[in-house]
Amino acid sequence: MKHLIWAVWTAVFFTAAHGQPVRVGVIEAVINTDRVLSLTVYRSADGERYVQLKDLSEMLGGSLSFNPKTKYTVMAAQGQNVYFYPDVDYLVYNTDRINLNAPILNAAGRMYVPESLLTMSEFLTPMSIETKLTADRSVLMVNYIDNVVLNYFIVRDEAEVQVEMRRPMYHEFAVDRGVVTLTFFGGRLAPKEYGIMDGILTRMTVQQVGGNAVLSLHPAVVDVDIRRSTAPGRVTVTVVRRSSSPPVACGISPSSAPDTVLGEELPPPAERPKVIVIDPGHGGRDPGAVGPSGTQEKHVNLAIAKKVRALLVSAGWTVYLTREDDTFVPLVERTAFANAKRADVFLSIHCNAAVKARSGEKGFEAYSLAEYATDPDAVAAERLENEAIRFEQPTKAQEKLQKLLWSLVLNEYMNDSSRLCGLIAREVVQRTDLKHRGVKQAGFYVLRGAQMPAVLLECGFISNPFEEARLMKPEFQMSIADGIASGIRQYHAACAGR
Ligand SMILES: [Zn+2]
Repeated sequence: MKHLIWAVWTAVFFTAAHGQPVRVGVIEAVINTDRVLSLTVYRSADGERYVQLKDLSEMLGGSLSFNPKTKYTVMAAQGQNVYFYPDVDYLVYNTDRINLNAPILNAAGRMYVPESLLTMSEFLTPMSIETKLTADRSVLMVNYIDNVVLNYFIVRDEAEVQVEMRRPMYHEFAVDRGVVTLTFFGGRLAPKEYGIMDGILTRMTVQQVGGNAVLSLHPAVVDVDIRRSTAPGRVTVTVVRRSSSPPVACGISPSSAPDTVLGEELPPPAERPKVIVIDPGHGGRDPGAVGPSGTQEKHVNLAIAKKVRALLVSAGWTVYLTREDDTFVPLVERTAFANAKRADVFLSIHCNAAVKARSGEKGFEAYSLAEYATDPDAVAAERLENEAIRFEQPTKAQEKLQKLLWSLVLNEYMNDSSRLCGLIAREVVQRTDLKHRGVKQAGFYVLRGAQMPAVLLECGFISNPFEEARLMKPEFQMSIADGIASGIRQYHAACAGR
């Protein structure tokens, strides 16, 4: 009998220590507000929560290799090497040790790591990754933070590309056969290819090469002046056409595929309808941001939108608003409406709010849609505006469609959108003394699926008492509206008949 009890006890103990972890649920990891990765959650016999190391590695964009001699697995992710040893309650991060709340498990050839790693800043911060787990532990927001931020303004005869370095880093500048290359050592910037349709630059690319961010600018013509200027934490490159070179026609970039233009009879510029859908952000049960004196963002957005409408109507545009009054419109329907109206431009009007109420943040920002937010402010604005999604319950089919549209149209309209942002921001800042916070990109839900250039404007900080007071004034709203309308007119004039 004694023997049997002992046998049972060892069996239980053995299972507890070395048994296969049991699947208990799933965490949906939303990466940069775009990609979703499902992480299966397991529970060990000790009651600790785990995820598989291979899933963690995929979420962090890492690669795994197993060393059969030493039995550890090394994960190389975002320039960091992390060593996982089975059955110990720590890991080795480059050369440092990080203690864990539970041991790393190895069962049936799979490695399991404590779920706590998903939110451990000690583990994630050196990789420039930020995460947030919802209270019910079902969704994990994963944001890759760039330490190099790109702002650019490109028109026919001039390009200004500004790179901000979020931490001190060495950079190199080179011009070879007309191509400008900037290398930021230790720089992190999401790789991207910008195909520019009608600017002085035909192409701009960002690559990650051996832990460095490399930016290449390809001018459209040979006859350009290239200048570089530096300031602490910032480098600016300007490419300006010398007056003798012939202008590049709008939309007929040498790199553009001709089959997208052929077979389509476009009306001459003069007859082209100018259709815009203006989207006053929020509305109805969704007030948007609320200022210290209680001003609700939705009312300011609508007032500015109506003023822009009046100005554009008098300039011969056909203007539709996504809402005429204080009603709730789901985000998905706003772009769907613009698509249905076959609008040339979609413009979403908002006011910003600082994360910390008394931080004194102020100024104007223009955003185009991108997969990744360009900097921490863009991440904050994206979160703020995407919050509106909690006021609605989109169906699975709507979400799927939205995702599909998003992947189809992203590259096609990205450059036009960011050009439009640049023009609007310049005009608004000229007419108001709003601080120019830059032309940025972020993953706003409201812009997703728009089959036309689409921008989101943050017309000042309603969280700042001074700007809140100004935003309520009709004259100030009018100055903003006038800047917006002027930017849109310039944009259309440059690209009519395309
Ligand atoms: Zn808003």
